[in-house]
Amino acid sequence: MNSVCAYCGVGCEIEAEIENNKITKILAVKDGKSSGGDICIKGKYGFDFANSTNRLRKNLISYKFIEKNAENMPFELQVRLSNLYEYDHIFYEAPFNLAIDITAWKLKEILKSKKAVGGIGGARTSLENGWIFQKFIRETLNSPHIDNCARVCHSPSLSGLMMSIGEGASSNSFDDIFDSEVLFVIGSNTTEAHPIVANRIIKAKQRGAKLIVVDVREIPLMKFADVKVILPFEANLLFLNSLAKEMVERGFVDSEFIENRCKGFDEYKQNLLNEKNDKTFFKNLNGYEEVTSQIEEVAKLLTKKTLFLWGLGITEHLDGTEAVNAISNLAMISGNFGKKGCGVIPLRGQNNVQGCCDVGCLPYYGPDYTTPKEIGLMTPDMIEEMLKGNFKALFCMGEDLTHIHTNQHKVHKALKNLELLVTMDLFINDIAKHSDIVFGVKSSYEKYGVYVNAERRLHLSIPLIENDLPDDWEVIQAIENRLKGDFKYNSSKEIFNHLTKEVTRFKGATYERLAKKPLQWPIDEDGNDSPLLHIDKFSTPDGYGHFHFRPYKIRDQIKNLLENKNKFYLTTARHIAHYNNASQTKESQKLLKRYSDDILLVNPIHKLPNEVILKSKYGQTNPLKVKYTNKVKPFTLYTTFHFANSKINYIFGDEADEKVKTARFKSIEVEIVDYCLQ
Ligand code: SF4
Repeated sequence: MNSVCAYCGVGCEIEAEIENNKITKILAVKDGKSSGGDICIKGKYGFDFANSTNRLRKNLISYKFIEKNAENMPFELQVRLSNLYEYDHIFYEAPFNLAIDITAWKLKEILKSKKAVGGIGGARTSLENGWIFQKFIRETLNSPHIDNCARVCHSPSLSGLMMSIGEGASSNSFDDIFDSEVLFVIGSNTTEAHPIVANRIIKAKQRGAKLIVVDVREIPLMKFADVKVILPFEANLLFLNSLAKEMVERGFVDSEFIENRCKGFDEYKQNLLNEKNDKTFFKNLNGYEEVTSQIEEVAKLLTKKTLFLWGLGITEHLDGTEAVNAISNLAMISGNFGKKGCGVIPLRGQNNVQGCCDVGCLPYYGPDYTTPKEIGLMTPDMIEEMLKGNFKALFCMGEDLTHIHTNQHKVHKALKNLELLVTMDLFINDIAKHSDIVFGVKSSYEKYGVYVNAERRLHLSIPLIENDLPDDWEVIQAIENRLKGDFKYNSSKEIFNHLTKEVTRFKGATYERLAKKPLQWPIDEDGNDSPLLHIDKFSTPDGYGHFHFRPYKIRDQIKNLLENKNKFYLTTARHIAHYNNASQTKESQKLLKRYSDDILLVNPIHKLPNEVILKSKYGQTNPLKVKYTNKVKPFTLYTTFHFANSKINYIFGDEADEKVKTARFKSIEVEIVDYCLQ
């Protein structure tokens, strides 16, 4: 049996051993294209969620919602309320059709009021579900407000690459790592967040490739690095621009490539040469003086065949889009596009976040990155409109809005202004607890569906076990049928066959072809796929790569360092044993044993109590256990955000990428408080 791992954007192929409709073991597929025949501990042990007794197997309606709405419901619905049964202290259990009818009735009421409605989600479920979700929001509800969790992760990769090379996705396959002479990894804790890609990097290094790793703390991959660069917080763009200036000044550029394939180089070069904040800047930065000579060393290495890989350490900043664009500039300067072993690989987070963007779950792109009839609101703007009372109904499809987004006090306040919050999920996670209506749906191990990983590869995932819960599309279609009646699908496959006509990059993909072999988009009508992009020309309208220069603005920790002020800065990331809100991984005892709390890493020069609270101007965390390590510099703090109870995301605010509003999760000034003294 073949399926796809339910977690990260590597998209490892898996097979399973099943007993009595229960997964007992998950194994790697030996000739897996994306997995390279391996899986990490999450893939291997993170399957208990599927058969967990905690799974949501019902449709729920909150007492609060019924109390508020019952008297306004049509008589026929009021009569049927006698079919509600007590589920717990928050919810009634409802028959599927009643939950659908109540949702549809309430939606109609809200639509009459002309208040805004919208939806967020799709990155954890199939392409088919993502496509039908945006179609439902755009066409059935006549709303442009559709977004997905790329808002909190790789939207800057899409925007930064779009403006440069016209395609916001990986240019290469993961296996190209073995063809590279140099691997440049920045802002990616690859061994924990994308372990199977990290395995390839380490193997390539052992076979002779040079490895450059850049981060704000000493991450495990640095053990293998030829050059390990520890940057201060918020210095990515400064570092990347300094590197480009160094390459231009020393003539480390591929003039022929620039001449034939790119536009705007002369202006870009002039801007770089005029830029005062360059490698010398780091010489005056206490504790980071070494970066100056490292820039000289790295600049020379980038003249070789280089693959550039990055993660959220690049995108989750004020200048995420600009930093991605700066990476693309480096790849163009050095002629590192269009061949095996060189190019750009944004390490996408969730198993289908690439696909969910491809099928149009974005407010500014319809399916296949077309321009939609109307540009909708991004998630942070939806929250603002909720606060103002202009936005009244929200659908969350596998998106734990009250856990994984920033400024949670604000999010919670905003959600209180909704008249209808509908969630489709596997568990009663944090957002479900705040919802009016919750539908328990199939997991990816229980349904057919296509997933697109971070190397643009489409995998057909087939059910490993059976259950009789609806798939997301069945919930959406049932609601649509009460409102309009245009959706008449009988299976995921039918939806897929329909969507490939709209999303032309999937044109030649069919369930039959994908069952034989996963394919990388764009896929021609005859089924030929595209492991490598930008071979002769870029995907921009004129076919050229475009240089843009954005100067770095001094701020936050760097400003403090220049003024000799020592302030604590926190960065967050994932632990290998868990995935985002841990709703699935924490169902596995083996994974929980590996990591069961969000632990705070602190340099030993600081003497702290065993547990501390972190405070920012936005809020405070719950007590966090302290662990000392030299892997973080003094005044650098690090933790994960897997457990809702830690309230990590309560301390991050509205600061975000200025173009696409991806929140600045990777850097916040905090105060440390001894919680015993509170
Ligand atoms: S979590 Fe990612 S790296 Fe690990 S098995 Fe799943 S897809 Fe592969």
